[in-house]
Amino acid sequence: MAKKQFKSESKRLLDLMINSIYTHKEIFLRELISNASDAIDKSYYKSLKDSSIDFNKDDFYIRISVDKDERVLKVSDTGIGMTKEELDANLGTIAKSGSLDFKSNNEAKDGIDIIGQFGVGFYSAFMVAEKVIVITKTADSDEAYKWESSGADGYTISSCQKDTVGTDVIMEIKKSTDSENYDEFLDPYNLKSLVKKYSNFIKYPIKMMMTKSRKKEGTEDEYEDYQEDEILNSMVPIWRKNKSELKPEDYENFYKEKHFGYDKPLKYAHVSVEGITSYNAILYIPSRTPFDFYTKEFEKGLELYSNGVLIMEKCPDLLPDYFGFVQGLVDSADLSLNISREILQHNRQLQFIAKKIKEKIKSELLSMLKDEREKYEEFYNNFGRTLKFGLYSEWGANKETLQDLIMFYSSTERKLVTLDEYVSRMKEDQKYIYYATGENVNNIAKLPQTELIADKGYEILYFTDEIDEFAIKVLMNFKEKEFKNVSSADLDLKSEGENDNKENEENKDLFSFMQEALNGKVKEVRASKRLKTHPVCLATEGELSIEMEKVLKAMPDNMAGNVHAEKILEINTEHPMFEKIKNAYADDKDKLKKLSSVLYNQALLIEGLQIEDPVQYANDVYELIEK
Ligand code: ADP
Repeated sequence: MAKKQFKSESKRLLDLMINSIYTHKEIFLRELISNASDAIDKSYYKSLKDSSIDFNKDDFYIRISVDKDERVLKVSDTGIGMTKEELDANLGTIAKSGSLDFKSNNEAKDGIDIIGQFGVGFYSAFMVAEKVIVITKTADSDEAYKWESSGADGYTISSCQKDTVGTDVIMEIKKSTDSENYDEFLDPYNLKSLVKKYSNFIKYPIKMMMTKSRKKEGTEDEYEDYQEDEILNSMVPIWRKNKSELKPEDYENFYKEKHFGYDKPLKYAHVSVEGITSYNAILYIPSRTPFDFYTKEFEKGLELYSNGVLIMEKCPDLLPDYFGFVQGLVDSADLSLNISREILQHNRQLQFIAKKIKEKIKSELLSMLKDEREKYEEFYNNFGRTLKFGLYSEWGANKETLQDLIMFYSSTERKLVTLDEYVSRMKEDQKYIYYATGENVNNIAKLPQTELIADKGYEILYFTDEIDEFAIKVLMNFKEKEFKNVSSADLDLKSEGENDNKENEENKDLFSFMQEALNGKVKEVRASKRLKTHPVCLATEGELSIEMEKVLKAMPDNMAGNVHAEKILEINTEHPMFEKIKNAYADDKDKLKKLSSVLYNQALLIEGLQIEDPVQYANDVYELIEK
């Protein structure tokens, strides 16, 4: 019998499969079962439509059988079967379905990626089999056909005998080597667990004869083996079940079974949508932060199923980064099983589903915020930072989604509050949303800059995360209220009077002496409008705050470059210290130089900033104490 050659692309793919070093060879089983399920779908559909066909639902199933001695694994179905022409066309060339959009996919050069992401259908059998035989029969023909191939050198098709309609894929499993164990594909228990893992929710029963053990009748402790046919898959996925049938434990068990997390999920949502694009989804918000969540290693994504068949374990395109903590899955019959990653990204249905999922997550979070405040705070403590990063990234494009979800610690409420809550409480004469930045709540509470604002009875939001100030800079305002750092030079408070200017005028020479003594470290020294009990503080002018400068400076590639926050040293002219300053200016200019430096460094320390020369600072302090 003449061997036919594979079409060139198919040959390349086949080579790739045969020589694959891909570690998840086990997915071949998923691929064959999916093909079988598709084939049954077709015959099922046909029998539903054609009233002349007398059928029984039990006639539709997939069977796995193993012959360990012969090293044969067989996947059979009662599906539509293939004609001779179809055999030639379907198994002689690579499926048209876009699974191999492959030529343009550079990543897939070594094939690893493409196998890993989608499997590549029928040919994946060659990852585990030396030889593959397909025996198939359609309902319209008395004849059956046999397709046979041992790999890249071609295949043959011949007539053969088969009684029932459907297809058998018979694989002669490779011998195990030092590095590869193929025997596992002949082990019924392993095969069963692969079915559970990858094909649990296939609609049709996947059967296998299992050897079991039971007590011999009439004996005390003698056992005998017996054979029992078992259905390996659950057939009805939890997400297709009616919500009313399911209890919270079912969702929690499923979360664990799927290894979405080992905690008890904080919240779950079950979505069933019928429409132009239909889909089911189960979404979970974990109660604990995954250990690698804030690292590059963390992979976001939802499991993606096409009509009950797992096509991707983590589909990143279903979740925006800022909701990357969400776990779960999406199943849609409107997605093709063998869709490539590139195509998937641009797939309209997928984009639609992703948008809906995003909205769903937001609404779930909002309802948690409204009805389960404590839970929300727990959530926010775990994942709030991601939301703020989301706000900051993409130039604020996600502002609408995220601004209602973020929270900050409030000076007056002494707990996390939303921006909406803040604004709704704002005093009548209050122009801005005030915030202060620092290492932690305690440190911020002691910041001298907060004194005046707090005295006016205004609420202050405490920004303790590095990202906070960057995030609200992107937000710019909330409900038309601008944000204002309590350290900014221009606080624009009503009570700011002219006498401050008068003081600046009166002490003009003194202040410029101090500014010069500080050697360019501050842009200006001036009388403070905000200080009550502290002698000095730092303020900033312009967009960049001291905290932001600190963050930028700490970045690995020094994003800040040479940018500096424009610092202003503010002096409390009511404070006894100011008398000392004035005296020193009159009698001892050297002492004032030291004093200026010490006061400046103290202002830095209060801000939680490093001082440039701690030894010099310590010496200056000793000297001043001695004087
Ligand atoms: P894909 O499933 O992406 O189309 P495959 O290489 O897995 O690619 O299969 C190629 C084609 O062979 C299928 O589209 C289908 O028409 C046919 N086929 C494969 N397996 C079976 C089967 N068990 N029964 C009937 N037809 C099958």
